[in-house]
Amino acid sequence: MRCPFCSYHDTKVIDSRTRDGGRSIRRRRECLKCCRRFTTREELDHIPLWVVKRDGRRDEFDRQKLIKGIQYACTKRAISLALIEGIVSKIEYHLRDQGIEEIDSQQIGEMVMKELREIDEVAYVRFASVYRNFKTKEEFLQQVKQLKE
Ligand SMILES: [Zn+2]
Repeated sequence: MRCPFCSYHDTKVIDSRTRDGGRSIRRRRECLKCCRRFTTREELDHIPLWVVKRDGRRDEFDRQKLIKGIQYACTKRAISLALIEGIVSKIEYHLRDQGIEEIDSQQIGEMVMKELREIDEVAYVRFASVYRNFKTKEEFLQQVKQLKE
């Protein structure tokens, strides 16, 4: 990053803040030569966040896909798209803010479940049944039972 005032090639970062749900980062920099300060805004979209699936394959984090998955669990529930987008943004922000570049799909599922649980129990159980991949009906009922307690 070159200094816009004197073109010196080295600057130091004084402050970093992620914005737009972790999609961009605002940095306050100081030129090491002339000591003038300036702000840069860097888009993080090009930094891939990899999601490792159960079979070991990796996919790039797909916001829309996750939103659709949650929407499916929220069918006929009073949950707005804005709220769902908010959940996804919060999760993505959290991951990017921590500099995580690879995460298990299961972990993302757990994070969604944690959020849904606060909002709507039915949507939570529906989502959990898909993400936890219940093998038996008993496992599913166990989950519902735990929720009631
Ligand atoms: Zn300078």
